[in-house]
Amino acid sequence: MTIFKAESLATETERMDAVLEKQKSAFLAEPFPELSIRINRLNKIHNILVDHRDDFAKSIAKDFSSRSQSETELAEILPLFEGIAYYRSRLKRLMKPQKRRTPLMLMPASVRVVHQPVGVVGIVVPWNFPLFLALSPLVGAIAAGNRAMLKTSEYAPHTGSLLQKVISENFSDDEIAVFTGGVDTATKFTQLPFDHLVFTGSTHVGRMVMKSAAENLTPVTLELGGKSPAIIHQSFPIDEAAKRIAFGKGINSGQVCVSPDYVLCPRHKINQFCDTFAQTIRNAYPTLLDNEDYTAIITEAQKERLQQVLIDAKEKGAELLTINQADEDLSGSRKLPMTLVLGATEDMRVLQEEIFGPILPIIPYDDLNKALEYVNQRPRPLALYYFDWDKARSEKLLKSTHSGGVCVNDTMSHVMADDIPFGGIGPSGIGQYHGEEGFKTFSKAKGVVRKGRINVTHLIAPPWGNLNFRGLQAFQNLRFRKRRTD
Ligand code: NAD
Repeated sequence: MTIFKAESLATETERMDAVLEKQKSAFLAEPFPELSIRINRLNKIHNILVDHRDDFAKSIAKDFSSRSQSETELAEILPLFEGIAYYRSRLKRLMKPQKRRTPLMLMPASVRVVHQPVGVVGIVVPWNFPLFLALSPLVGAIAAGNRAMLKTSEYAPHTGSLLQKVISENFSDDEIAVFTGGVDTATKFTQLPFDHLVFTGSTHVGRMVMKSAAENLTPVTLELGGKSPAIIHQSFPIDEAAKRIAFGKGINSGQVCVSPDYVLCPRHKINQFCDTFAQTIRNAYPTLLDNEDYTAIITEAQKERLQQVLIDAKEKGAELLTINQADEDLSGSRKLPMTLVLGATEDMRVLQEEIFGPILPIIPYDDLNKALEYVNQRPRPLALYYFDWDKARSEKLLKSTHSGGVCVNDTMSHVMADDIPFGGIGPSGIGQYHGEEGFKTFSKAKGVVRKGRINVTHLIAPPWGNLNFRGLQAFQNLRFRKRRTD
């Protein structure tokens, strides 16, 4: 695999320091970019995607060794167009100061909230969607009026270099700058005193990033991973559930932060689930080796990790159902067939670690409450998928479980809904972006009280105990203290 060598770390660190300084100065000179400037920046990102969509699809395919252009369009490029259009059409409203209530004691005065750009946002990008996960936070950050520095993933070097090139062709580096490089660069990057830092990656690295950011008291948004369950109610048509889950799990060969990580399936429906799931995967991917539609694993090391997870499960007694329709030998490639794991137990890695690949354990349950208990006793996941036509039961489940987001009767599609926040909870993440919440993440909500020419404060000013003050006190007592609330 190609890992493009960045300049020496010292040079790269100096360059990052210098660009941050430049961006901070440029921000001071333009602390509240007006609507037209923000729209212009969003348009430039839109145009980069129009001009380079094929180049990006090719670079991503190179990084993965195999990924279809259609999958890149569906999961990276089209959602970016949507996200840009979302902010373009709502930015004027989002930027407007919000009028708030003036308490009696401050009258007459106006009270409002101004959403002010924070300054320079740092964005750390993982390899699995190396374009979407770079530009989606960037779009939110620039919509909110910020400048940004990005650090791409060392495991998606072709996409990182292309992004660096096209961004530098369209933006000055005091507006947006892209850095490539490995863990050393990433470590230095996350130590920079940004005004906000967005990190997308593993929970393990997320902890380190938060520690680095704490040194500067830099606010963080951590978009992490975890084990996202899919729960099927016993009344839901099992073939339909299997088909919908198979579609989601097949995307990027399961290398998605919100990929269904395991399925809680009514015990008596397991066989039928497996049959339909396997058939759906076979239909979608009749061959694997030379079939671009079936995405390869990003690196040899990741493939090896996933194979070890399977070996561990098998050695400890699980049954593996490998879906390789054409029975191809994939050993010389980075492809790994989709594999269902039956009879998994708690001592197996497959139930302990985030899978992040084409492996899906199916866990039987007899009682839905027990299935929910299973989910609630584990770290809060990034996503939860529930299959049930019954709306009342779904609502109840929503309130009795925690997860970053939810799809009812589907998987992963909540990521595409621009008007809702996206982010985890606890070990699956902190904070959110997308939609109005994203705009607020990248803004400082500043409370402002404005007094006019008429000022009545002097009427109650000391010496305390004056008649006006006592009148005010008596009135407020009447309103609150003397009326107990139950
Ligand atoms: P990773 O944590 O290994 O790396 C992510 C980024 O962090 C890379 O750019 C890397 O260079 C950088 N990095 C590595 N070590 C670092 C350190 N010590 N200090 C600072 N930065 C460092 O994650 P990955 O393997 O690229 O991606 C897979 C993980 O990301 C999975 O856990 C997945 O669930 C998660 N993920 C989450 C989301 C989300 O939106 N919540 C999206 C995609 C992936």
